[in-house]
Amino acid sequence: MANPFDVLFEPVHIGPVTAPNRFYQVPHCNGFGHRMPLGLAAMRGMKAEGGWGVVCTEEVEIHHSSDLAPYCEGRLWDDEDIPALALMAEAVHEHGSLAGIELAYNGLDASNYYSRVPSLAPRSMGTIGGSGYDPVQTRRMDKEDIRNLRRWHRQAALRAKRAGFDIVYCYAGHGMSAAAQFILRRYNDRTDEYGGSLENRTRLLRELIQDTKEAIGDTCAVAVRFAVDELMGEDGLTSQGEGRDVVALLAELPDLWDVNVSNWSNDSSPSRFEPEGFQEKYISFVKQLTTKPVVGVGRYTSPDSMVSAVRRGILDLIGAARPSIADPFLPAKIKEGRIEDIRECIGCNICVTGDTRFVPIRCTQNPAMGEEWRRGWHPENIPLKKSAQEIMVIGAGPAGLEAARALGQRGYEVTLLEARKELGGRVLRESALPGLNEWRRVVDWRLTQIGKLKNISVYPSSPMASAEILESGAQNIIIATGSAWRRDGLGRTLSKPISGCELKDVFSPDDLMDGKLPSGKVVLYDDDHYYMGGVLAELLASQGCEVTLVTPAPLVSYWSQYTLEQERIQRKLMKLGVKLHVQHVLDSIRADSVRISSTLTRDLTELEKDAVVLVTDRISNDSLYAQLKPALDDGRLRSLRLIGDAEAPNIIAQAVFSGHLAAREFDETPVDGTPFKVERTNLA
Ligand code: ADP
Ligand code: SF4
Repeated sequence: MANPFDVLFEPVHIGPVTAPNRFYQVPHCNGFGHRMPLGLAAMRGMKAEGGWGVVCTEEVEIHHSSDLAPYCEGRLWDDEDIPALALMAEAVHEHGSLAGIELAYNGLDASNYYSRVPSLAPRSMGTIGGSGYDPVQTRRMDKEDIRNLRRWHRQAALRAKRAGFDIVYCYAGHGMSAAAQFILRRYNDRTDEYGGSLENRTRLLRELIQDTKEAIGDTCAVAVRFAVDELMGEDGLTSQGEGRDVVALLAELPDLWDVNVSNWSNDSSPSRFEPEGFQEKYISFVKQLTTKPVVGVGRYTSPDSMVSAVRRGILDLIGAARPSIADPFLPAKIKEGRIEDIRECIGCNICVTGDTRFVPIRCTQNPAMGEEWRRGWHPENIPLKKSAQEIMVIGAGPAGLEAARALGQRGYEVTLLEARKELGGRVLRESALPGLNEWRRVVDWRLTQIGKLKNISVYPSSPMASAEILESGAQNIIIATGSAWRRDGLGRTLSKPISGCELKDVFSPDDLMDGKLPSGKVVLYDDDHYYMGGVLAELLASQGCEVTLVTPAPLVSYWSQYTLEQERIQRKLMKLGVKLHVQHVLDSIRADSVRISSTLTRDLTELEKDAVVLVTDRISNDSLYAQLKPALDDGRLRSLRLIGDAEAPNIIAQAVFSGHLAAREFDETPVDGTPFKVERTNLA
């Protein structure tokens, strides 16, 4: 029978080149950038191996006056940068895919901290990139600057071709490039032929496309990445207004339209806020205005949605950043009809924190992401077992599930025991909270895989004690028993139990996830700073509680700014009527009130309450490990390993990683020293 998804495997002509199929990894940042070209090339090559017909770079700075430091993006400032990028093009070509490069001149977005030259932009104003509030103002570009920019772009295109790229982008997306900034009225007050009418404001982008085509268009396709809507209403570009008009003006000029919404946080919207295919309503007009192929994104993980987007005439190529990160082998699995094997992205945006925290990319679903070169990890393959050892894994949260799954994949006999009736640990519990439903995929994918492996036996409703474990005769034990939220407020800001924490109207996140909900006036103290505090405030407000969120940080859910969620979270809470007290610590809990104190002035404020929720540190459930350790020391056990939150509470991605690492390292001699390769400058 024909594969119902055959249409996805049709080749697509893009100018002078041909994509082997419709799977298109759009440009995405990754934290490797120009500093770690080996890691980058291996990661991109893995996508090509997994069947992505086109694999692109992140934004690549074309000149030192477009320097995005401290962010680590690609660089093509001069010829010296060609070899590093060529590594990636080669890695992609090795699997028959096309390599794309996104040339970027960032204008207002570049603060030029490293190069220390003035930033150039359509007008003089404070830069908008980096922290968003850098004390840097741009210089207004004059005609000579514009001529220079066109020359730099042309040179970069020639270098990109020499590096081996097949598709070369003119980047006008996300408001992050000069070409986009010239188009946007709020950044362009010019009175010359680059300002005023839309035609004038689009002139630079038109010229860049023409220059690029002239320079390399004989052998390379020239793509445009353009955000058709900024989701700002009339204050920005809209897909019914100028967004549409720009596409109409340039319709047949590029070889490919890569269209999306802006800014980046809208484009990479987490599953908490937008479903699969959420960009279709903005981008669907594009194909009506051009005969050139169109690629767009929308966190597509379902082949049915992909086929539908093609059949309905919305997209020619299925663009993906996150789905290709969570599963580099997504195309191969669709081709082989292994739909249930697709490791679907959960839309958590931990991958984005590679870029925003300046470290190699990581992924909640795919523990091999970012580890392809330095640890030699493959997302689908794992070394086979080295012995006939059997392993007992205690606890079926993300760490235990991944450890059991990966050990099972290696061929070991595995017994997975879980105290609760249902498997999944914290992920199962948290995915029942508002907006986190898709996170369940972390559990679902692992249970599907475990279900296929006959060498893994799973026992739910099996709380294990140390005596039982020892009596069972098991020799190799992995403890993945997770952690519990503290009830005494201890954390970053409180080093002693908060006075009043023993009162019966004090709740922990675990209570709420167990269905024990407070009512009335609830004060939620968030010293965790990621999603939990905000999500629980949302839960309580939607249940009719009058919620006040108190946090020592200057922002609500502070760390979620690195996953591009912070503003949306705060907006949602404000719309739900949650009162916010930032930069305050909890001072004491009393019968009918709490006292909070300003982190800056120490001034005290009293807030009435019926209940308090403490979202602070967690306590590792590591007692089983401590009880079994003597048995390891005296030889009754062959191996004992503590993983995941039971070892050190962290995000879900880290629990999955920890489980995976334990499985890979089983039967291996521990490495003395750094257990992975490091990219270093060779001074020899
Ligand atoms: P992690 O994020 O590290 O995977 P979780 O808290 O999600 O941690 O999962 C830990 C799991 O271990 C929970 O489902 C919990 O019920 C289970 N568990 C804890 N103690 C025991 C035990 N003694 N025996 C069996 N299962 C346990
Ligand atoms: Fe998807 Fe989260 Fe992985 Fe990013 S980190 S690809 S959002 S699962």
